[in-house]
Amino acid sequence: MKGLVKFDHGPVNMEVREMPVPAPGSGEVRVEIRAAGICGTDIHIYKDEYPYDPPVIMGHEFSGVVDGASGTDAYRPGDRVTGIPTTVVCGVCRYCAAGQHSLCDSRKSIGSGVHGVFTKYVVLPDWAVRRIPDHVDLAIGALSEPLCCCVKAVSIRAPVTAGDVAVVTGPGPIGMLTTQVAKAEGAYVILTGTSEDVERLELGARWADETVNIEETDLLELVRERTGGYGADLVYECSGSAAATRSAIDLVRKQGTIMQIGLHGGPFEVDFFPAELKEIEIKTSFAGSLDAWDRTMALLDQRKIELEPIVSDVVPLTEWEHAFRRLLDKEGMKILFEPVD
Ligand SMILES: [Zn+2]
Ligand SMILES: [Zn+2]
Repeated sequence: MKGLVKFDHGPVNMEVREMPVPAPGSGEVRVEIRAAGICGTDIHIYKDEYPYDPPVIMGHEFSGVVDGASGTDAYRPGDRVTGIPTTVVCGVCRYCAAGQHSLCDSRKSIGSGVHGVFTKYVVLPDWAVRRIPDHVDLAIGALSEPLCCCVKAVSIRAPVTAGDVAVVTGPGPIGMLTTQVAKAEGAYVILTGTSEDVERLELGARWADETVNIEETDLLELVRERTGGYGADLVYECSGSAAATRSAIDLVRKQGTIMQIGLHGGPFEVDFFPAELKEIEIKTSFAGSLDAWDRTMALLDQRKIELEPIVSDVVPLTEWEHAFRRLLDKEGMKILFEPVD
């Protein structure tokens, strides 16, 4: 099978290679991949800003069909599924016991620590497999994983409630999903971006109460107007840009919460003093958790989240260079790969 492999440390160092088809071990399920999404994390791996063990097949967001299993009958051939990327964990630490697998010291995820889904087949332990609701298009089900990251951040780690004003910075796929989850929780959502994001903001207007190009509108003034001068209850920072995190400290109200969802990929400077005076809670959320996965699949089943409009391109894996280039140039939204023979 052909897989997109990060073959060495350093920027890029990726190529499509012939790789062996994996065989499921005991308790494992093999999935024939239908679609696999490029995530911000893959961009970080492309740029050498995120840990990985080369050579490794990249990709962790996927949907597909079960085609085999060993020592488990939890899933049958033909089942439409997606899965939890963190497939290697110790299973006994306090984080594993709490279903917080992304925090386990022994964690390895598909697409960075073990072979991922930018290929035709992937093998997962049966506990990491999740069924996609019947009414969700199979390819679109690949967005379950990024949705889960947003559900954990918005509904579990930094909950928002009806009546809250939330600012979402960074109108990429994570910003779109964060907006939708915050709306489902009942918040008033202001989605922001720059002049580079005009088309993305147009799409975001489908879900957000307001969208703001911060190069044209004074966001701080607008947020004050909407909040009686106090500032936003929550800022969900989805861009991973230093400037956005710095501005979040200005936008959030005293004792408000900043939830950092986008990864910065490196150090940056920030004046922490205003955050101290305002008693701001600064939180982060990294990947998913078992409780977030339950909520995610329920939200999809309940048709509370629209995934389809977020997919901008579906391309064969062999076009990976162009696909990564588009995302680096802030073009497109969620790009899905289809496997190639
Ligand atoms: Zn992802
Ligand atoms: Zn553990």
